[in-house]
Amino acid sequence: MNCFYHYDVPAVGVCRSCGKGVCRDCAAEVKNGIACRDMCEERVELLNAIVDNNSRVVKVAKLQSRRAGRALLFFGAAFGAAGVALLPQSVVLGGIMTALGAMYGYFGYSRIKEQKALRVPGEEAKHAMASFQLPPGSLDDDPQTS
Ligand SMILES: [Zn+2]
Ligand SMILES: [Zn+2]
Repeated sequence: MNCFYHYDVPAVGVCRSCGKGVCRDCAAEVKNGIACRDMCEERVELLNAIVDNNSRVVKVAKLQSRRAGRALLFFGAAFGAAGVALLPQSVVLGGIMTALGAMYGYFGYSRIKEQKALRVPGEEAKHAMASFQLPPGSLDDDPQTS
């Protein structure tokens, strides 16, 4: 393959943006490859920045979901254990505590499951960030305050 701009010069690689072959003179080095100098260079850098940003967003969403899930699981276990311990003394109170524990545990479990499903960068991550909510006071190691 020859350079798209110089028909008689062999290409050293393919532009990451437009896919044309470019020779050494026409190639500009960019992250993860080369681009047509002064033509696609900026576009490839922009694309790289978008991809980087998306993977950061997904990482943060995953971390927050995982933390929330763990906190909820912890509360579920604590409530469940307290509820079972209370059952001999008060069936009603013990039952309520156990039910709360099961509920927290279920929320924690679905949060962690949801976090594992977070793969596609972009809209899905944004949605996860927007819907990220916790019951008040249920998370001690809130990433925003620590
Ligand atoms: Zn190009
Ligand atoms: Zn060239």
